[in-house]
Parts: sequence; structure tokens; C-alpha cells
Amino acid sequence: MRLEVENLTYSYGEKEAADQVSLKVDRGEFVGIIGPNGSGKSTVLKNIYRALTPDSGTILLDGENLLSMPYKKSARKLAVVGQENEVPFDFTVEEIVAMGRSPYKKLFDIDTPHDRQMVHHALEHLGMDQMAKRSYLRLSGGEKQRVLIARAIAQECDFFVLDEPTNHLDIRYQMQIFDFIKRLQVTVLSAIHDLNLAALYCDRLYVMKNGRVVLEGTPEEVLTPEHISEVYGVASTVEVHPLTGKLAITFLPEELQKQKLEGQRGNLRWAEKKREGAA
Ligand code: ADP
Ligand code: MG
Repeated sequence: MRLEVENLTYSYGEKEAADQVSLKVDRGEFVGIIGPNGSGKSTVLKNIYRALTPDSGTILLDGENLLSMPYKKSARKLAVVGQENEVPFDFTVEEIVAMGRSPYKKLFDIDTPHDRQMVHHALEHLGMDQMAKRSYLRLSGGEKQRVLIARAIAQECDFFVLDEPTNHLDIRYQMQIFDFIKRLQVTVLSAIHDLNLAALYCDRLYVMKNGRVVLEGTPEEVLTPEHISEVYGVASTVEVHPLTGKLAITFLPEELQKQKLEGQRGNLRWAEKKREGAA
């Protein structure tokens, strides 16, 4: 087991944002955390990538207590790509990616040929080697996210923690980012906003609501119209897509939600009549 989170609890002052959260990620798995806005997804991830420290609970990374691990050691194992992709200064693409090397260096160490090679390799991997000298701040949202993924690759980690990494991107870049990450064959734990993307890319899902994990399982187990209605309060239809073989979810507008309910009631009445007829 790569990551084992047991009874993680975290509060912002009075506000309990993660309540006894337990989850596991096995080597090579692509695991998603879904759930409405404010359900605690980012809070859990921040406790895992050590931006926050749990009030209670345990987190094991490769069997070792993450909370007492030296920061550099955990940064050699686990890379993070979040949704805020702004940096305060005008770095070049190459400089941002080179920051991924810092867990391997001491203060004031200069770049070794291996560092430079890793940076080049990461940029090449994302098709961005032509952009090395460009200003990061002047890139599009999709390009910025690709640079941050390149930084994660340069960090030589095989475990990625992602917090809605494609949230502000249009659909082509959303797919491109997830395809890139999938191809890396690393272990992934990612908060994902979009249920169809979660169904396409994840092996397993955890569903959060009000700070708790309320459901877990494969996309097929978790993403049923009943569960979606319970957690998000929206009616939907769920089908297996003929090309992808994955679930495809369609959310129904209010008018159709009523019809769907009517339809279900209609079916019930029909079934009752049939039973009565048979009796
Ligand atoms: P999600 O990522 O699922 O949208 P978050 O983990 O960001 O949810 O937030 C969970 C809850 O904690 C929300 O009610 C949110 O308002 C609250 N919260 C998040 N960050 C802070 C903070 N820095 N201070 C106080 N409350 C916060
Ligand atoms: Mg969030």
C-alpha cells in the first residue's frame, strides 16, 4: 500500500472540514476524490501534501509515518499539482520546472548536469521544450498546468497528488492533462470536479460530503443515479459508453427531472396493475 490515511480529522477553528477520513491508494492506482464544493476534498489533500497538519489521525506513505518524515524526503516521493497556478514572480518555464529539483539540493547548490537533464526531459515529455525560455505568467491556463506537471515530473516522484488540476481549463486541455498523467503510469490521488472525467480516468473513487467519506468503490459502484441524487441533489442517467467502455453521466434539467420521476411513478403503476392482473 502506497498511502494509508486513517481517521484523519482537521478543523479550521470551529469548522470541522475533515471528519474521521480514511482512504487508501495502492501502487499504480488512479484514485479520485469527488464530492460537492466545500465537502473537504482540498482539506484532505492539503493534509496529505503537508500544507496542513492533521488534528488527529495517521497518514502512512510507503508504510512510513508521513507526519514525522523530513520534508525533503516526502518531496522526493510525492509531487503536488494544485488548482492555483499563479506564481508571484515572472519566472521562465525552465525556472519553474527546475524548482522540482529542490528536494535533491541543499541551499545554494548549483544545478548539476543531471538536474538540467531532468528539466529538459520533463519539458520534452510534455511537448514544451520549445517554450523553455518563455515567461510563465504569459502562458495560457492549459500551458501553465502543463508546466506544473513538468515540474512534478522533474521532481522524480512516482506519486502525484492533484487538486482539481484541470478546473479552469477547456475540455481539450482537461483531457490532455489527464491523458499525460495516465501515460506516466504513476500512482495518483486526485480531487476531480467533473464526474465524467472521474469515470473516464479513475480506478476507484471516494465520495466526500460534509467532511466525511460517504461512499467508496469503483466508478461503476459509486456513480449510480441514486448516489448522484443523494450526494449532489441532481437527477441523472448513467450509461456505459459504447466506445470508452466507461460510464457516461448525463445530468437532467429540471423539466426532465420531473418527467423522469413521473416516468418512474408511471412504471410503478404499470407494474402494480400487472401484478393485480396476475393475481
Ligand atoms: P472542497 O475542496 O471539497 O471544495 P475544502 O476542503 O476546500 O472543500 O473546504 C471544506 C470546508 O472547509 C468548507 O466549508 C470551506 O469553507 C472550509 N474551509 C476551507 N478552507 C478554509 C480556511 N482556510 N479557513 C476556514 N475554513 C475553510
Ligand atoms: Mg477544493
